Amino acid sequence: MSSENQLSLFEESNFEQKDLIPKNAKIPIPPGSYANLTELAQHCNQCHRCGLGDTRRNAVVERGNPKALIMIVGEGPGQNEDETGQPFVGKAGQLLDKILASVKLDTDRDVYICNTVKCRPPENRVPSTEEMAACKPYLLEQIRLVDPKIILLTGATAVKDLTGDKRGITKIRGQWMEWEGRLCMPILHPSYLLRNPSREQGSPKWLMWQDIQVVRNKFDEISNN
Ligand code: SF4
Repeated sequence: MSSENQLSLFEESNFEQKDLIPKNAKIPIPPGSYANLTELAQHCNQCHRCGLGDTRRNAVVERGNPKALIMIVGEGPGQNEDETGQPFVGKAGQLLDKILASVKLDTDRDVYICNTVKCRPPENRVPSTEEMAACKPYLLEQIRLVDPKIILLTGATAVKDLTGDKRGITKIRGQWMEWEGRLCMPILHPSYLLRNPSREQGSPKWLMWQDIQVVRNKFDEISNN
């Protein structure tokens, strides 16, 4: 067999391997698997790499600007997200939009929003380690394609999934950390703020206000360079 024929066989097997990605969590998703976010979303919408694919209505892949400087990563879709196919659109999402607007960041223009798992865990439970591991390569591809300069990790699950850091969110929120050469900040999850409405100094809402101002300053610093 000529080397040209051998090469074409190799390409064909690669193509088949890529088709298997949404079917089997053992199939790797190497960096560069997707040419764009549309291709990635198509795979997520037909994905059964974990059991969450069996119970979802819609895969929830993204919202916002795919060229944004800031990426926000949440835990997983809830009921509203499952119904609409968009992340952070329920009460917590509306609060997130308000938090961003308080420092003049626009959700459609300045941020790209996604989740650690793209399908809703039943009863809004925390996604399992296996589910997060099956879905993480999609997140890594989103990060590669969007190429954000700042990643905000909302809540302990998102921090653990991306960075492996298992510390409590109240200990590490508001602190810059570096992950794979990217600037990340753990922040409180908006749904936690909904459960803690106080605005007193030291309250979750007050802490979020401090953190989002730091993020805005960093955003300005990066934008002006
Ligand atoms: S949660 Fe992720 S890995 Fe699991 S089925 Fe949905 S898209 Fe696939």
